[in-house]
Amino acid sequence: MSYQLETQVAIKAVTLAAKLCQQVRQTIQAEAIEKRDRSPVTIADFGSQAIICKLIADAFPNDPIVAEEDAAALSQPDMAPYLTQVTEQVRSILTEATPDAVIDWINRGNGQVGSRYWTLDPIDGTKGFLRGDQYAVALALVEDGEVKVGVLGCPALTLAGDAGSLLVAVRHQGATITSLAGGDPQPIQVVRSANAANFRFVESVESGHGDQTQQNAVAQAVGITAAPLRMDSQAKYAVVACGEAALYLRLPSPKTPDYREKIWDHAAGVIVVEEAGGKVTDMHGKPLNFALDYKLTENQGVVVSNGSCHEAVLAALKDA
Ligand code: AMP
Ligand code: MG
Repeated sequence: MSYQLETQVAIKAVTLAAKLCQQVRQTIQAEAIEKRDRSPVTIADFGSQAIICKLIADAFPNDPIVAEEDAAALSQPDMAPYLTQVTEQVRSILTEATPDAVIDWINRGNGQVGSRYWTLDPIDGTKGFLRGDQYAVALALVEDGEVKVGVLGCPALTLAGDAGSLLVAVRHQGATITSLAGGDPQPIQVVRSANAANFRFVESVESGHGDQTQQNAVAQAVGITAAPLRMDSQAKYAVVACGEAALYLRLPSPKTPDYREKIWDHAAGVIVVEEAGGKVTDMHGKPLNFALDYKLTENQGVVVSNGSCHEAVLAALKDA
């Protein structure tokens, strides 16, 4: 399978959604709405999901989409002003948008994990988006539990220029980076040498999304002496894939030891790193299992590496 059409549609969808997100961040003071689990969501999260689900559903009407947001809250009468704003933003990109259509498009993301499905995080790292830091629009196609196509839009990641970076990977076809403004895709590769200036690790900005103490101890145990790079979202996968860091560690926070990672927080990043020559497993060395549910129920923590330091990291984790 070449996944040519899937890749083309996914690139267009992520690029348009990233444009909406940047538009929201630059022109209006992005305001957080609190979800039931108390995590933040913005009009850009909803707008991004509406655009991507609409484009994927038009091209692949039978494919389920398992996305982070749903429109239930947005459909409440007291949320009407937000729905108006989301609709205006989406309409600036897809002229046929109406409030009802936007709700429908967002709800196309309520699909279930199956033998073939898409998974979407319309804004990964919403906290970074609100802070003015890194965030990502992350879309992936999964078949038989294996990620086949991954597209990561990182509007604040300048590795491919000031307009932000677009990372694309297709199984067995490699990974590339392009400016979100367009241009020729350039192949990317993980950092190979332990002596390289970029032999450093990356972790979340949010201390509650990992175990920074253990992450630092494990990095030191494998000979990483540089200070960690802290970044929100799957931009962390992007920097490992581009050789800007050798390792991304995400170990369970002591505050939430039973937390299970969500598929949309990893699927696109995983294939980008793997196709750039790196390796991804959970903290016990198991591959991430995308065949089960919207959560990675059988995995704990995530280890993303350049491949060469992976075994040493897993060994250090076993000893910890
Ligand atoms: P990051 O930007 O790497 O901090 O990751 C953001 C993602 O962390 C969000 O999309 C959430 O789904 C996820 N998240 C929320 N709570 C936790 C937690 N306790 N442990 C790990 N990840 C979490
Ligand atoms: Mg996320």
